[in-house]
Amino acid sequence: MEGQELNQIKSQLLWRKSKIQEAVSGHIVQMHLANLLKEVDSALERIDNGTYGMCVVCHDPIEKERLIIDPLIKVCLDHLTTNQQKELEDDLIVANSIQKAMLPKNGQQLKGFEIYFYYDAAGAVSGDYCDIIDPGADSDSLYFVLGDVSGKGIAASMLMTHLRAMFQSLIPLGLTIAQLIARASRLLCESTTSTHYATLICVKSNNKGTVEICNAGHCLPFYIGKTGVRKIESTGMPIGIFCESEYGLTTLNLDKDEMLLLYSDGLTEAMKKDELYGTERLEKFAFENRELSPKQFIEKLLIELKNFLAGNTRSDDLTIMAIKKL
Ligand SMILES: [Zn+2]
Repeated sequence: MEGQELNQIKSQLLWRKSKIQEAVSGHIVQMHLANLLKEVDSALERIDNGTYGMCVVCHDPIEKERLIIDPLIKVCLDHLTTNQQKELEDDLIVANSIQKAMLPKNGQQLKGFEIYFYYDAAGAVSGDYCDIIDPGADSDSLYFVLGDVSGKGIAASMLMTHLRAMFQSLIPLGLTIAQLIARASRLLCESTTSTHYATLICVKSNNKGTVEICNAGHCLPFYIGKTGVRKIESTGMPIGIFCESEYGLTTLNLDKDEMLLLYSDGLTEAMKKDELYGTERLEKFAFENRELSPKQFIEKLLIELKNFLAGNTRSDDLTIMAIKKL
């Protein structure tokens, strides 16, 4: 840990110590308060003798994020007691179900499109964001958002939730999607540390089949037409890196049975030994299977990916969305 963080933890511990001392000085000295005081003193002692932040079992550094939340922790995640591990697992199961409940309804036919998506976390929770937002019956528009937040695990999933809340509240304002992404980027930039950002695609469709695509540094989506497949170029930087970013738009028309494919890098960067699944393989798959429904297309793609991985486990969150014009 850096000196500044350690100083912050030390002053927090000293503050806790003074609070416990106040409580202990009452006439009934409660046993657990006395023990807590010992714990705080022991942490202060470890800061002074330079062993603070090391697991007392394996002597490896304890995860920094955990220490900031609870400066009294003495063991790394690998050396929690069985009970502590169980509690952590229970929390993750709850976090996972909350995240699943935030997904849009799957397999919908909506405003001239048939949509299917697949969303799966590499760990307990995902840092990918997948959404379909319908601004209501007054409008013939639909919005599709697929993004990937920097980092992994709980921190990434919290940022993903933040992103979702932003898009859900920004879309009804009726901005263009370039303005929408620029606004989201500024909000994310102002509300998180500079190391947090997200790559993201936002698509706005109307029921005639016109789609506007704004891509903030995300994996290139595919237009899957009747006669060919092509990648749609990126139009800007990931969001949250610079507070003032500008975004361009790509507009195209989807005819009946043509499809748009969005995905996160968990697909194209899935790896077997030194070999990536890659965009070329995806392009070939997309062309050969362009006549399938979105659901059949994604299900077949997942089988193809599984065969490619041949038993190797995926290390990244995976999201795929197929949008077909009816
Ligand atoms: Zn340990």
